[in-house]
Formats: sequence, C-alpha cells, structure tokens
Amino acid sequence: MKIATTIAEVRAQVAAWKKEGLRIGLVPTMGYLHEGHASLVDEAVRQCDRVVASVFVNPTQFSPNEDLDAYPRDFSRDCTLLESHGCHLVFHPEVEEMYLPGAATYVEILSEMPKQLCGKTRPIHFRGVCTVVSKLFNIVTPDKAFFGQKDAQQLAILRQMVRDLSYGIQLVGCPIVREEDGLAKSSRNTYLNAEERQAALVLSQAVFLGQKMVEEGERDTAKIVAAMTDHIAAQPLARIDYVSAVDGITMEPVSSIQGTVLVAMAVYIGKTRLIDNFIVEDV
Ligand code: AMP
Repeated sequence: MKIATTIAEVRAQVAAWKKEGLRIGLVPTMGYLHEGHASLVDEAVRQCDRVVASVFVNPTQFSPNEDLDAYPRDFSRDCTLLESHGCHLVFHPEVEEMYLPGAATYVEILSEMPKQLCGKTRPIHFRGVCTVVSKLFNIVTPDKAFFGQKDAQQLAILRQMVRDLSYGIQLVGCPIVREEDGLAKSSRNTYLNAEERQAALVLSQAVFLGQKMVEEGERDTAKIVAAMTDHIAAQPLARIDYVSAVDGITMEPVSSIQGTVLVAMAVYIGKTRLIDNFIVEDV
C-alpha cells in the first residue's frame, strides 16, 4: 500500500492505473478508522481494481465551536487497517495541501436539503463536506466512491451534488456497521466514558424500536418519532438534537411512511453528539 501526502503523487499514481484500464474506487474518511470504514474499503475492493482511501480531518466542515482539534487521530493504526483490507493507496494530505492560502471557493447546495436534520445545528457542515468531496473527486477522478448510510443526509446531499455538477462518478451507499450491542460504530465513540457508552445504546435501541413499529404496520411517522423520542428522553445522560422522519431523497419532513423514508436522529450523550438512522423502502 502506498501513502501519498500530495495531490501530485495521487494524480501520477491514478494516471498510471488508468493507462492500464483499471477502475478506481475512492473511500473518503476522516481517519481513526473502524470496521464501518473497513466495510467501505471491502466493498470498494469488490467493485473496483484499485482502491484509494483518503484520511483527512476536513476543517471546513467544522464550526468554530465543534471538535476539530479534539477529533481523534491515529494515522499509523489507520494504515494497518487499510492495508489489511486491501487498500492500494492512502491519501493523507496536510490542511495546507488541500486548502491553498486565499482559497475562497465552496460547493454549496442551495435547496432546503442541507438545512434539514444535522444542518439545523451544523449550518456550514455540508458546504464543507461538498467542497472537500468535490476536491477529492477532482484529485482522484474515481469511477466509484463509497459512503456509509450512517451519514444518510451526507449521502443524499452528495448524490444531489454529483447530479448537479455532472460528476461521472457512481456513489455506492453501504449499510451501517454496529458494535455487538447495537451502537453504530463511530470515531466519536472514543469520547464516551463507560457510563456514557452504556447510555449511548438508546440511539440504536430507538432505531430498532422504530423499525419494529414499521414492520408491525405503523405508517404514521409522528407516532414512530414520538415513541423513539420517549425512549431516548428516558435516559438522563441523553439530550436530543433531533429525531425526524424525512423523504429519503429530498430530506423534507414526511407525515407517513410512503416511498423512501429516512428516520434519523442526532443525540448528545454528555458532550458527544452521535447520529443513527434507518431507512424504510415502502414499495
Ligand atoms: P468519517 O470518517 O466519520 O467521515 O466517515 C467516513 C465514511 O465512513 C463515511 O462515508 C461514513 O458514512 C462511513 N462510516 C462511518 N461510520 C460508519 C458505520 N458505522 N457504518 C458504515 N459506514 C460508516
């Protein structure tokens, strides 16, 4: 596995691979990798000939009050995981390599989509995500890019961006990978102390509760959201940011389960903000 820190190195390697007619897969990450990230690499290895993973904590998607400086980092452990899953190239740039002095161009979706759900409390987040993913697409020029359903709003927004900006790149969504007890794997789980780690189970429990209600025939999203909210609110260490049911493509709120519906939540456990969700395909 090769490690590149500059855009020029990535471009040279990708050009050589493309000359051989190889298909390139990209897995963008912020590092401190776990089995959720590994599942994206596994899928990329299955679908592509060469896999590029980026490890970059992107400053433009963090607001000043967020955890940019505290965000966990362990690049050598990341490399061990990536190599063991068959990744071919890791792109690990410094901030200065990605954002030149005076950089002033952003990619921003101007619909309501990035203002829903996480956008309500993280107003610049998706502008930062779209900008950095757009840059990674321009640097790596992959055939396919792999993203987790855990960040369902991010994936929906990136699908819109790819369509609007005519990126000839196929986005592949991969299922949420969970700990054995249900908690969705996240780099931010490392912030949790033992008591908080236990309390954090209310997120996945609420997901399973909501899914069960849908399976049993409930179609009223207000009832589903209310039951999930009650379950989370009973945990004293939990503070709800949102629990919402939205259209799976537009992210607009919906009142009944029809078409593709995303039921998503963000919940603070102590100071740590965690997300989880499930998608219902009602056909
Ligand atoms: P991050 O490093 O948190 O920016 O995540 C990088 C990619 O990994 C994103 O596409 C995430 O959706 C995905 N990802 C993170 N956690 C999980 C998980 N538990 N299961 C599946 N994908 C995940």
